Amino acid sequence: MLPWLTAQLETHPEKIGLYTINQTWTLAEIASEVDEWTKRVPVFLSENDKRVAILSHNSSDMYFLILALWSLGKEIVFLNTHLTTQELSYQLEDSGVKAIFVADDLKEKRFNHVQLISFSDIHCQPLRDSISYPTFSVDATASIMYTSGTTGKPKGVIQTFRNHLASSMGTQKNMNITAQDVWGCAVPMFHISGLSIVVRQLVIGCGVYLFEKFDAPLMSRLFKTGDITVSSVVNVMLKQLLQAYPKQGYSDKFKCLLVGGGPVSKEMLQDCFSKDIPVIQSFGMTETCSQVVALGYDDALQKIGSSGLPLDGISLVIRKNDETCEPMEIGEILLSGPNISPGYLNKSSSWTTDGYFKTGDLGYLDEGGYLYVVSRLSELIISGGENIYPAEVEQCIASLSGIKEVAVVGEHDDTWGEVPVAYIVMDETIDIEKISETCLNFLAKYKCPKKYYVVDALPRTASGKVAKRLLVNE
Ligand code: ATP
Ligand code: MG
Repeated sequence: MLPWLTAQLETHPEKIGLYTINQTWTLAEIASEVDEWTKRVPVFLSENDKRVAILSHNSSDMYFLILALWSLGKEIVFLNTHLTTQELSYQLEDSGVKAIFVADDLKEKRFNHVQLISFSDIHCQPLRDSISYPTFSVDATASIMYTSGTTGKPKGVIQTFRNHLASSMGTQKNMNITAQDVWGCAVPMFHISGLSIVVRQLVIGCGVYLFEKFDAPLMSRLFKTGDITVSSVVNVMLKQLLQAYPKQGYSDKFKCLLVGGGPVSKEMLQDCFSKDIPVIQSFGMTETCSQVVALGYDDALQKIGSSGLPLDGISLVIRKNDETCEPMEIGEILLSGPNISPGYLNKSSSWTTDGYFKTGDLGYLDEGGYLYVVSRLSELIISGGENIYPAEVEQCIASLSGIKEVAVVGEHDDTWGEVPVAYIVMDETIDIEKISETCLNFLAKYKCPKKYYVVDALPRTASGKVAKRLLVNE
């Protein structure tokens, strides 16, 4: 069996390791479930199936299957349930997977040359008498996860057990997580945000409270009772948690919320402070196996907009044209450390000659070494030789009431090379003149959008990020 699980089992067999809304499992019960799954799964796989895929929402079945497949030495390709069949087919082909485990409600999907095994197929299978577990190597590939596809086709990121281990240890130190904590997991396990919670349990020994679906009132109640002491959320989830905040507040046992994906707005932060909800903002990528930079609660108000400081073991530098930038100077964010993926499937990743991974994100460090992410390199607009960071323009437009969302991208222009244009979704009709005036009042003229397109919605990736590349008019 996976040695990390065996180690937790030996340390505290009677401790509850997994919670769902209507059931709990001790470590001993988890190990026995995993043992059973490892005795049912092999019949579906050939010796050549070193790599297999899972397509499922969060469920205890998915959790046991992950641990069983790792125990059997399999590399798991995690598929996003929101993808179309065509998008999934691309990932299956790219990763060369021939067998895919699917949750029962998704078993009607069909893929060419790929065997589908539903969770109920596994449950129906009789147990094998015994199973010999392969030798575990920390440098083996644990998971392959595709990036969100925000800037192009999703890339298959290879994540080793060592990457996951380093990430867990960095988080443990940064957030002071112990085996007594219970981590609420309402983010999908097919994303690094969710899978990293399972790994933290294996490495640190904390419990996992698994949600099939995010439920803000339920999660708030569990924060209040102290049944969950820490959780990972993205901005939209935080917003709902603030609305569902219980009158009596959260339990004294409650430690913090880890917020990923982007900075928390000043208004939401202030709301968190007034309700005494400690939030830790973070920067991370699929390639870094979860957070690598984090901003503690104590710093949050003084450092609004920052992603924080690099975690233990991570080296971060900002470079422009191969030169290290001065504080406050914008350049590409480069990272090195044991969390960082060794590379992509069928595609080379970008590294500097001195061993730094090029993130493709632009940012700067302030005098105190705090990171500010300003844009993606590919979304930077260069107009007449001037750099325009779309987020700055978007924030200006979004400050007007009636704007639901906005995306600023570059459009080809014969004179300037590129000019900024804005795509706007409105809550209520606003005069474009008013938007244009606001931009001219607060931004240099070259940063002001030359055109405003009012649209019903912005295109999004399966992870819910705005796919700006689909807005750019060639
Ligand atoms: P693709 O690589 O396919 O274009 P993606 O980069 O969106 O997709 P992910 O790995 O899910 O795929 O996201 C990582 C990216 O999310 C980072 O490179 C960065 O651009 C953005 N990001 C993550 N955390 C933050 C943050 N705190 N602030 C700003 N941006 C962030
Ligand atoms: Mg990326």
